[in-house]
Parts: sequence; structure tokens; C-alpha cells
Amino acid sequence: MELRDLPSVDELARAVGDPLAVAAARSVLSRAREEIAAGGEPRDLEERVRAELAATRAPRLRRVLNATGVIVHTNLGRAPLAEAALERVLEIGRGYSNLEYDLDRGARGSRQEHVIDILRRLTGAEAALVVNNNAAAVLLALAALAEGREVLVSRGELIEIGDGFRIPDVLARSGARLREVGTTNRTRAGDYEKAIGPETAVLLRVHQSNFRVVGFTEQPSVAELAAVAGRHGLPLVDDLGSGALSARNGLALGDEPTAQESLAAGADIVCFSGDKLLGGPQAGILVGKASVLARIAKHPLMRAVRIDKMTLAALEATLRHYQRNEVETSIPIWRMIAARPEKIASRASSWASKLQAQGVPARLQRGE
Ligand SMILES: *Cc1c(COP(=O)(O)O)cnc(C)c1O
Repeated sequence: MELRDLPSVDELARAVGDPLAVAAARSVLSRAREEIAAGGEPRDLEERVRAELAATRAPRLRRVLNATGVIVHTNLGRAPLAEAALERVLEIGRGYSNLEYDLDRGARGSRQEHVIDILRRLTGAEAALVVNNNAAAVLLALAALAEGREVLVSRGELIEIGDGFRIPDVLARSGARLREVGTTNRTRAGDYEKAIGPETAVLLRVHQSNFRVVGFTEQPSVAELAAVAGRHGLPLVDDLGSGALSARNGLALGDEPTAQESLAAGADIVCFSGDKLLGGPQAGILVGKASVLARIAKHPLMRAVRIDKMTLAALEATLRHYQRNEVETSIPIWRMIAARPEKIASRASSWASKLQAQGVPARLQRGE
């Protein structure tokens, strides 16, 4: 085939007869020219334009099968939502709602009201606040409590979560100054005590979400840190990251601390994600002392990181499952975490044989 045998962009687009066909025809023809230059015989040009159009119109964001073995996978959308959460998103997204309207008083209300009580009951906190995600929760808390002043953080907790979320950078953006205490592997409550001065505004504790320091290590407990913070009248903020909401469902959480435990041990503010071990939508949840949360809620950044109505609908429905003790039956990630190894093995072997039947090489491998 010669280059001059190819149709023009317009001819090809007209043959397909689709309003978006010109751009598709252009890209198909440009590939066809390369193929001719390489000695090929490009065929089915109209078919290729139609395929290109179908790809252009198909949703970019789509479902995938998670075969990684990682249940809460950030690149694959973290927690799948519970059925009830999805139903509530449809219901609230479809029409108008009392998002910021108090139906009893017939007056303007707060979107926060829809989840405050349930979060208080579930965690034992005095008050609660929800925002766009946990990164926003940390940023907001530090901006509101420590702008222009110092935040004490252990050198062992100056972490990067992934995708560039680094505690020292977030701290800098909040307008607070980082004051490092202790060492990478060992930090004691006394290190915080010694570092406290007139400029200190907050003691921040950060959960080492995705790494461990092993060997000769020491980190103070929340209770020890709370005692130091309390003696100096400073708030202790505990960024739990994953933030399992409850150990009540009887599943081993390893060393994942729960929000209740941290609050009971004396943290003033505990923050965690909505779409990690909670198993809900992307959100940042802050629970703790009413007086401290009131300062955070008043900060101008609050408006920039506010939670959306669909998220709020899904979050409320997810929290209701906790309230009704339906975590292991209704929240997808907890159903997966609770799945018995025999069941997982039989599902995997059924997958493997189906794949093998299709000629796909597949074998079973047990991970720990
Ligand atoms: C995941 C994580 C964050 C960020 O939470 P997002 O909800 O992803 O914004 C912050 N701190 C810790 C310790 C985390 O593990």
C-alpha cells in the first residue's frame, strides 16, 4: 500500500458518520502512515475509527478486579462501599436533602450534625468533625491549633504515607513550625517535656502506618504523652491514619490502635481516614474534646476541606453498620478481613481452574 492510497481525514470521518470521528480518523490515519512506512498494510480503517470512538466514549474510571491480595489498596480505590452506603449516595445525590437545613427548627443547619452524634457514641468522644480526607484533617488541626507556633513530633514519626504526603511538609503548609524530639528509633515522654517552651502549641503523634522500626526502639504510650501535654495545658493530637473504629468486632487488628483507645488514653484530638480500616468513603474524621474541635471548626480552611454530601451519606450509612454491630456482615473490607482461610483458598482454587480452562497459566500461592 502507498500513502496516497489512504483516504483523507474527512473522507474517513464521513464514512464513519460520527460527530467525534474527525479526531479519531486523524489518529487512526497517523498510525496507518507509520505502518505503511514500516512496510505494513493497514486494514479496516473504518473499523479502527469506530473502535477508537468507542474507547473515547467509554468511562475512564472503571471497575477492576483486585487480585493483589491487598484489601485496602490506595491505587485501586481503597475501601469498596457497603450496599447501604451506596443506596444512601443514590438517594441523597438524586434529589434535594436537609444537608444544611435543620428540619426541626426550620432554620439553617450544619452538615456536620448528621454524623456528630453517631461518632460520639461510637468513639466516646465529646465532639466530632468530618472533612474531605485525613490529610486535610491533619492540615486543618495543625493550622487551627499551631499556626506560627511549634508542633512537637518524634523523629521516629516524621513519615511519608505515600504519594508525597509527608508529615514535615504538611506541618510547614499549616503554618506551624516543626520541632523534632527524640531520635529515629527511641523517643521518650521526657524528650517532649524537655522540648516544651513558650512557643509550643501542640504535641503531635503520628501512627507509623506503612513501616516499622524494629530492634532497639521505644515510643511513649498515648497515656504518657497525654500526661505531659496535660501538665503544660497543651493539646495532644493523635493521627491514627487507618483508624480502626472498633476492636469490638472481635477481629485481630494487630497493633492498629482504635480511636476509642487513643481517646480513653487521653488524646485530645484523634484523626483518621474514612476509607481505610473504617471501610467507608474517602473522608477525614476528627474526634475529641469539644473545646479543641470548636477551634478547629472555626478555621477558614474548614470551608476548603469540607465534606461533600455524597460522602456524608455514605459515611453515615457506614457508621450505622458499626452502631448495629453489622461490621463483619455488611462492610466489604471487614467481610474480606474476616473471611476464613479455607474459604479464600477454595475461592482461589476455583479461579485458578477457571483460568486454566481458558488457557491462562495460573497457580495458587499462599501469602502471609
Ligand atoms: C493514610 C494516612 C494519612 C492520610 O489520610 P488520607 O485519608 O489518605 O488523606 C495521614 N496520616 C496517616 C498516619 C495515614 O496513615
